[in-house]
Amino acid sequence: MSILKVRGLEARHGLLQAVRGVDLDLREGERLALVGANGAGKTTLLRTLAGIHPASAGMIEFDGTDVTSVPAYRRAAMGIALVPEGRRLFASMTVAENLQVALSTRRTGRWNLDSVVEAFPQIKPKLKALAGSLSGGQQQAVAIGRALITNPRVLLLDEVSLGLSPAAVQGVYDSLATVVAEGTTLILVEQDLQRTFDVAGRLLCMLEGVVVASGHTDEMTRDEVMAHYFGHHV
Ligand code: ATP
Repeated sequence: MSILKVRGLEARHGLLQAVRGVDLDLREGERLALVGANGAGKTTLLRTLAGIHPASAGMIEFDGTDVTSVPAYRRAAMGIALVPEGRRLFASMTVAENLQVALSTRRTGRWNLDSVVEAFPQIKPKLKALAGSLSGGQQQAVAIGRALITNPRVLLLDEVSLGLSPAAVQGVYDSLATVVAEGTTLILVEQDLQRTFDVAGRLLCMLEGVVVASGHTDEMTRDEVMAHYFGHHV
């Protein structure tokens, strides 16, 4: 059974329909990537799955429950965690406080303050520092840690490398490797196709809000995916 089942999902920004009739099935332990050009609707889709953005039509079922109208904080408590684009930390709170905020929606599981700090060692010396004073890579580690602490059943990762130096991106992905190795169910949005292929078992290509192609990463080439970015048929 799918842990996440999405049917005919639509989401709007005013008159603009950013997500148009998306169907999606995610099985437990699966890692799915959403790819597509800027503005394809990937971020809006992730935010709609997390309940931060409203669906204008369609259905989202999580572990057999219709959550389409369930508010974000309750979806978080049920096990859907979003690492948002741009990290969105509380800049004037400490790193420890940023992590503690997530404890209110924590489910039982292997992730807690100590195990997150162990998985993201770059956080350790910074626990008492203000989140806004950290480097981009450190902030991203905190943002991922904040999502993991809830022990999510589905982790949504939105462009974790955006704006980071190559070394910082490597650091973030080194830590994510632990998460991947543990079989965490996740949906990833990542501009770097090589990293996408490395992490994800399956891809959905989006163009102007529509899923135009999908497939397993071992059955698709990067050229095929690139063609879908621009709406060409291969
Ligand atoms: P990106 O890689 O740039 O984040 P994306 O694939 O995630 O792209 P979205 O950010 O979901 O795409 O944007 C989908 C469409 O919705 C785009 O046309 C975008 O301009 C529009 N859009 C996104 N956010 C807003 C907003 N807050 N107000 C109005 N339009 C928006």
